[in-house]
Amino acid sequence: MENGAMFTDATDAVRFVFGGNARVTLVSTKTGARYTYRVALAKDGKLWFVSVLTGADNEGDYTYIGIVRPAQPGVMAMTKASKMTDDSLPVRGFRYLVATLAAGLMPLNMEVWHEGRCGRCGRALTVPTSIASGIGPECALRLVS
Ligand SMILES: [Zn+2]
Repeated sequence: MENGAMFTDATDAVRFVFGGNARVTLVSTKTGARYTYRVALAKDGKLWFVSVLTGADNEGDYTYIGIVRPAQPGVMAMTKASKMTDDSLPVRGFRYLVATLAAGLMPLNMEVWHEGRCGRCGRALTVPTSIASGIGPECALRLVS
């Protein structure tokens, strides 16, 4: 995780996760279980697609698990195309994340990390304040929340 950072603030985490092109890693501090998700805004801007990394290829090995709609940012809905079940750990982990963030809280017993790339455009973050927030300076101006 080059220049990665752990979120401590729910507002920053929400902005990052729903930035449009985010990769977020959740780590259970109880079990050590760790999952990396891609949260990508649809081209029409109407929903986010959520996938989880399931292979060794950090770019290609993502498995689609569900969608989040702007009207219900605390809920990840499964669709027919979802490749994992309701009770799978990656689905439960991401659902817990968005539900707690929507309530304005950081999850308990779970670390939320970014990998050092902007949550909106995916470019590498270099400025310390951007590394802290997970959003690059130019994208921060465009993301009003
Ligand atoms: Zn950016």
